[in-house]
Amino acid sequence: MPADPQVLEISKKLTSTATSILIPAIVIIGVIGCILIYLRAKVKKVFDKFMRRKFAKGKTSQSDQCPKCGGNLVKRTGKFGEFFGCSNYPRCKYTVNK
Ligand SMILES: [Zn+2]
Repeated sequence: MPADPQVLEISKKLTSTATSILIPAIVIIGVIGCILIYLRAKVKKVFDKFMRRKFAKGKTSQSDQCPKCGGNLVKRTGKFGEFFGCSNYPRCKYTVNK
């Protein structure tokens, strides 16, 4: 069956149409992908900052009071560096590393 020139023409047109749609589509997908990656990085940065602040807050309030006896935690320097110990020491031996 010989190739019909009309069929050839149509298939050529289809190919060029597909290319003219495909290339912009790939470019758009690439641009959207880049924007998404950028936004994700930005959101992660803000989220990390927020989490760090929250975590730091929790750590501060945790080191303010002794969970064992409710006494104040005071900064002490020991053999192994600085740590927080209960102000009721030696009655309460609670310590927390910071
Ligand atoms: Zn204590």
